[in-house]
Amino acid sequence: MGEATGHGVDLSGAEIRGGLEDRNPSIFLPRQPAASPLLALDIGGTLIKLVYTASCGGGADGADLRFAKFERRRLQECFDFIRAEGLLACNGGTRPGGENMTLKATGGGAYKFADDFLEKLGVCLDKLDEMDSVVSGANFLLQNIPGAAFTHMNGQRNPVDVSPNNLFPYLLVNIGSGVSILKVTGNRKFERVTGTHIGGGTMFGLAKLLTGCKSYDEFLQLSQKGDNFVLDLIVKDICGELVCQKQGLSTSTLASSFGKVITSEKKLTDYKPEDIASTLLSAFTYNIAQIAFLVASLLGLRRVFFGGSYIRGHKSTMENISYAIDFWSQSQMQAVFLRHEGYLGALGALMSYGDPSGENLTLEEKEPHHESAPVDGTSVDEENDSNIFPYLLVNIGSGVSMIEVIGKGKFERIIGSHLGGGTILGLARLLTGCSSYEEFLELSQRGNNLSVDLTVGDIYGGEGYPKVGLPASTTAASFGKVNSSKLSEYKVEDLAAALLNSFTYNIGQIAYFVANLSGLKRIFFRGAYVCGHEKTMDKISRSLKYWSKGEVQTTFLCHEGFLGTLGAFWSYENMGIDSLAAHEVIREVLLGAPYTGQFPSLPVTQQQENGEHSTLEGEVESLRHDNAMLKAEVERLQRENAELRAKLVRSGETSTL
Ligand code: ADP
Repeated sequence: MGEATGHGVDLSGAEIRGGLEDRNPSIFLPRQPAASPLLALDIGGTLIKLVYTASCGGGADGADLRFAKFERRRLQECFDFIRAEGLLACNGGTRPGGENMTLKATGGGAYKFADDFLEKLGVCLDKLDEMDSVVSGANFLLQNIPGAAFTHMNGQRNPVDVSPNNLFPYLLVNIGSGVSILKVTGNRKFERVTGTHIGGGTMFGLAKLLTGCKSYDEFLQLSQKGDNFVLDLIVKDICGELVCQKQGLSTSTLASSFGKVITSEKKLTDYKPEDIASTLLSAFTYNIAQIAFLVASLLGLRRVFFGGSYIRGHKSTMENISYAIDFWSQSQMQAVFLRHEGYLGALGALMSYGDPSGENLTLEEKEPHHESAPVDGTSVDEENDSNIFPYLLVNIGSGVSMIEVIGKGKFERIIGSHLGGGTILGLARLLTGCSSYEEFLELSQRGNNLSVDLTVGDIYGGEGYPKVGLPASTTAASFGKVNSSKLSEYKVEDLAAALLNSFTYNIGQIAYFVANLSGLKRIFFRGAYVCGHEKTMDKISRSLKYWSKGEVQTTFLCHEGFLGTLGAFWSYENMGIDSLAAHEVIREVLLGAPYTGQFPSLPVTQQQENGEHSTLEGEVESLRHDNAMLKAEVERLQRENAELRAKLVRSGETSTL
């Protein structure tokens, strides 16, 4: 249990007030003097979170820890609240000189809005490192508050008993506007392992544009009423039920989020906002869970705690995360949630009142695990065929399949991602109305993603967040700057540019983790959405370079005719996948890739559930028809030609035909 620390927080006897289902219930601190209230803030990319102590009322001893949040763009409302609640009476951080009162604050906004706080409230912000605060907040809850953590699986919510002896190490996945993933090994001991720019800001930004929703709760409610199978491509759509049965595949496995959109005639307005919301929630939640699983596997961690306001105590979100972690880890890992998931940073900041060591927190030395299994950047040009194997083959179809190719004709599917080419083109169709992948790429070339993407600089200011190596220009949350729910207010070019960036970087990141995890030294990319599309290849190369810190040179496998200027190219022959492509099992291993490279730029096909002809079948039928017409025409012309020749010969002229 905690100790009293000067003007700090006395944690002894702390307990949650309220029922199990209450959101962010107050925490009773029986030994905390109510007369000296404390306030700390976490000013993030989207939300401002406040934690403060307040009298329990009725002259009772002790104080309550209370929680409040505001949208960052409504800073004034936050100032009004602080004044109205009398929170400026706090004395925890008053400067010795007695001039301006000091409040503990973390998050990028503590840097960016420090002047506003001084000007409007007359307080200085004592800025605390965001990651330090998030970890302190999580450790505070886990070590001091009984019932703070729980699992949520198959509709069952169960408290997790965490004792200080069995707490560390753990993985902390904080899902805010973007996502930070931290390995926590002790109190104040942690490392920010990685993060992703596809986070809460991305999902909510796209949700505003695609469903017109105005609030996060409205979006969550919509998602509850929707059916994601209207837009998502599932395994059955690609393989057909019979193949699924034969191969023992689950028919309902998600193959490509938004993948059905690309073969449909429907426009954005033809879809129900509920169905779109449901697809968005599963698409992003599974993706974050997958990255969390990969990182936990890389680090050998079994317990993954999820924080951040993205979760918002929402049952489906937690169910999806729990299911995904359980599924991929084959029940070896567990997803754990926190009742005050959105307030980790603010709680950590509050804990630092009266803590003299609070200022000197440093990140733990980076552990070498990331560097321990680097993906070899050797160009295949320098290799001969005999030592190509094993390698990771990343096939980007409507979904993404990652296959370990061990030798000629020997391969094994490792994992897939449901955010593939079908997702990019599907979302591009809905957001920009484009009709082909080429048109989308062309749009993206003229766009500026910064009009919709939230950067580290937008959150922190020009200096960025150097302590964890994030310069101001890094994308913190794709689509995280979208505030309006009117799609027409955004340029289609900018939306296309942001789409291309966010999803190719995501594929590159997952591929990099998978290769590391499998100890594979080489990564090759192929697939309908990659080959022949320089822009896509370029982004994937950059992404691999970024995630691998320049250690990887990306290679694309293309048929002749697509040899371009980027990276190194290799043909299917010699790669041991010719036989793979011809193999029956291709449908299983190349999920989401019903084409095997003949028509690289065409969208994928889909066997529609209502029994209509699939687009490919329709297309083949129409080509057959055209072919028959052309044959008839050729025959007619040949007949005409023969007749003319005969005439010419009869008239004695020499045939020059
Ligand atoms: P940050 O510190 O980056 O603001 P948070 O942990 O506060 O991150 O999470 C922000 C995310 O939480 C949003 O991107 C959105 O997905 C979700 N969210 C939850 N509640 C709200 C809300 N009331 N308004 C906006 N986003 C919300």
